[in-house]
Amino acid sequence: MRLEKKVVLITGASGGIGESLALSFAQEGTDLILWDIIEPKIALLDKIKNFSREVLFQKVDITKMEEVGKAMGENCEKLKRLDVLINNAGITRDNLLLRMSEEDWETVMKVNLKGTFNCIKTASKFMMRQKYGKIINIASVIGLIGNIGQSNYAASKAGILGLTKSAARELARFKINVNAIAPGYIDTPMTQKLPLKVKEEMLKNIPLGRFGKPDDVAKTAIFLASEESSYLTGQVIKVDGGLVM
Ligand code: NAP
Repeated sequence: MRLEKKVVLITGASGGIGESLALSFAQEGTDLILWDIIEPKIALLDKIKNFSREVLFQKVDITKMEEVGKAMGENCEKLKRLDVLINNAGITRDNLLLRMSEEDWETVMKVNLKGTFNCIKTASKFMMRQKYGKIINIASVIGLIGNIGQSNYAASKAGILGLTKSAARELARFKINVNAIAPGYIDTPMTQKLPLKVKEEMLKNIPLGRFGKPDDVAKTAIFLASEESSYLTGQVIKVDGGLVM
C-alpha cells in the first residue's frame, strides 16, 4: 500500500466527502484522526476499523483555535506523527448578495477560511519538526468562477486557494507539500438540498455527463498524499467532470 503507516487527519469527516476520504485512506492502511462537530456513523467507524490500525474520532470545531490546538496536541502525542492533513470541513449559507446577512457571510468565512487557517497553522508546527507533510485543502470550483447566491462561499473558497499557494511557498523548505482540490458538483448532503432545476442546469454543463461521487475526490486526495505527487505543490486540481476548463 502506498500510504501504509501514515497518520492522516481529516476535518469534516462525518460529511459526504469526509466519510469517503476516511474510508479510502483506511483502505490504504493509514491511521486516522477524524474531526467533525457531529459524530460519525457507527457503521463507518466499524468499516474503517477493519482496514486501519488506529482510528480516533474527536469532536472539534475548527473555527476555535484553542480546540484545534488541544486536539492536535493530544493526537500527535498519541500517534507521534502527523503526515497528512485534509482540510475538508466546509459549509454553505446561500443567498443573493443583497439579501445575505452579515452573520451568514461571517459564519461561512469563519468555518471555510479561518478554520482551514487554524488547522494549517497548528498542523504545520508538527510537520515542520518532522520535515515532512502533505496538506490538502478542499476548495471548490466556485472559488474559481463564482456563483449566483454564493458570494460568501465563493470568497471563502477563493481565499483557500490564496492560502494554499502562500502556505506552499512558506512550507516547501520543510518538505511540506500544500495543494488544493477544487471539486465541481459532488453528490453529498451539501448538494442534495439544491433544487432539482438547479441540478438539471448544472448537469447540462458537465462534459463528462454526470455528477461527481465523493470517491472521485478521495482518489485525488490519495494521489496528493502519496509520493507519486511529490513534485506538486501550490496546485489546484479540479475534480469536476470538465465543468471548468
Ligand atoms: P457535508 O456533507 O456538509 O460535510 C461537511 C462536514 O463538515 C459536515 O459533517 C459538517 O457538519 C462539518 N462541519 C461544519 N462546520 C464545522 C466546523 N466548524 N468544524 C468541524 N466540522 C464542521 O459537505 P461535503 O459535500 O462532504 O463537503 C466537504 C467539502 O467539500 C466542503 O469543504 C465543501 O465546501 C467542499 N465541496 C463540496 C462540493 C459538493 O458538491 N458536495 C463541491 C465543492 C466543494 P454539519 O453537517 O453539522 O454542518
